[in-house]
Amino acid sequence: MKRRIVNLMAQLPPQVSLVAVTKTHPVSLIMQAYEAGLRDFGENRVQEMIEKQPNLPDDVRWHLIGHLQTNKVKYIAPFVHMIHSIDSLKILKEINKQGAKAGRIIDGLLQIYIASEETKFGLSPDEAIQLLNNENVQQMKNIRIRGLMGMATFTENEALIKSEFKFLKQFYDKLKSEYFRDADSFNVLSMGMSGDYQIAIAEGSTLVRIGTAIFGSR
Ligand SMILES: *Cc1c(COP(=O)(O)O)cnc(C)c1O
Repeated sequence: MKRRIVNLMAQLPPQVSLVAVTKTHPVSLIMQAYEAGLRDFGENRVQEMIEKQPNLPDDVRWHLIGHLQTNKVKYIAPFVHMIHSIDSLKILKEINKQGAKAGRIIDGLLQIYIASEETKFGLSPDEAIQLLNNENVQQMKNIRIRGLMGMATFTENEALIKSEFKFLKQFYDKLKSEYFRDADSFNVLSMGMSGDYQIAIAEGSTLVRIGTAIFGSR
């Protein structure tokens, strides 16, 4: 595994960061990735994250990458590093509320629906724009929107994946210039997984979320 991590790191351009997706994997294996130098770990379920978090070092940065229910936000608000899966006003409100309670500003990404599949969560571009135009959202002090996340269609069709990532990058650039021109912190474009990260990087990803290519299949 260490060799896989080293090989992967060597492929990533300097502007691209790596979140190692640890879902289903035990703490002992995650600890090996930590010892190989990784600090950013991604889980898609709150329950699993809160079980693992106390058993790993404090300098781990935990990324919540899967769908988040409002009633679960309180469990991760005290420590989560970034929430990649913001997909409604309701969840934004709750993250802001729990961020305030925890005395933190929580970093988050708007998850945008880019795939031609029925099953993926996320906002449409129009819904994302509505959120950003919402006065309540603009007043939120305990959540900081750092960028966008998207998942391409699960397919062998590389042209389709490429066009979906290209679309997300264009939308990201549009939001940056129209809503976040003065916010240097709007600088994260989370796209790319084990099967498609090379395409994602070519299309402008700044953060890849990789599980299988590091830890093997689940
Ligand atoms: C599981 C998961 C990944 C990692 O997938 P791999 O194909 O194992 O690299 C990335 N992002 C999300 C949202 C996931 O749920």
